[in-house]
Amino acid sequence: MSDQPDPPTSSAESTVPGRIVAVLGRGVVPATEPILRADDLGALRGDGIFETVHIRGGRPWMLREHLDRMSRSAARLELALPSPDALTDLVTTALAEWPPAVEGALRLVCTRGPETGGDVTVYATVTAIASTVLGSRRNGITVATASLGFAADARQRAPWLLGGAKTVSYAVNMASQRWAMAQGADDVLWVSADGYALEGPTSTLVWLTGSTLCTVPAEATGILAGTTARWLFDHATDVGFDIDERLTTPGALADADGVWFTSSVRGVVEIRAIDGVKMRNATDTERLRSLLGYGA
Ligand code: PLP
Repeated sequence: MSDQPDPPTSSAESTVPGRIVAVLGRGVVPATEPILRADDLGALRGDGIFETVHIRGGRPWMLREHLDRMSRSAARLELALPSPDALTDLVTTALAEWPPAVEGALRLVCTRGPETGGDVTVYATVTAIASTVLGSRRNGITVATASLGFAADARQRAPWLLGGAKTVSYAVNMASQRWAMAQGADDVLWVSADGYALEGPTSTLVWLTGSTLCTVPAEATGILAGTTARWLFDHATDVGFDIDERLTTPGALADADGVWFTSSVRGVVEIRAIDGVKMRNATDTERLRSLLGYGA
């Protein structure tokens, strides 16, 4: 299911603003202006990192958590990420003209820069949340399982696989989603070679068993530690859930009392079926959503 923003509408009544682009050290530039050199290693090698931050009321949601994860990603790639203050200034610059009434997604990107050496390339973009994403919050999604090809604990012993880092090398993630759509599903649930459910290509897996809200352990599996799931788990006990991190299988999820994908852009989206097997009706979607403060 595409998280790509809708194209801006051009009519006078348009409520979808165009893309905003801001470059570190330069400020806001026209959205159509080229900002990467031809030899930028982000483009040549997918050698870079990014974050996608939810924009609500014109402000970034959980920016500190995203900047923390970005600096962990930078450490894994040995990338000279600018300081959190410099990145926060860039975010503020990018959001200055964003209409507060429009829910948005801000991408913060840092690539290794030119192949011949030099500074990292750092920029931010802001776009409106795609209508397909808004629809999935209301209607839920179906997913197809797809193997990532390695065991659930493989990335623990293989730092070069960059487990837990949010790199710009998302070609596999996007190919997985295209493959799922060709199977008639909305998205993918990645599965390890030893059969465990891991995460989606752009989302964290969360499920409910009785009163226990569960997710997959990030450190042990090398999945991306989701900021949205972290927020849910930090606040879930306030509204009566127990919480746990554990491994599960796609088959076992059919017995869960709710299965969701969570992400900064999507918020909480109910998974209605996995490989054509219907999941139980999730009765707690609104309770989770209200914890996040996202509209349906
Ligand atoms: N897992 C992957 C692979 C992702 O790309 C994302 C988000 O982009 C997530 C999980 C969810 O993370 P977050 O809740 O921080 O957006």
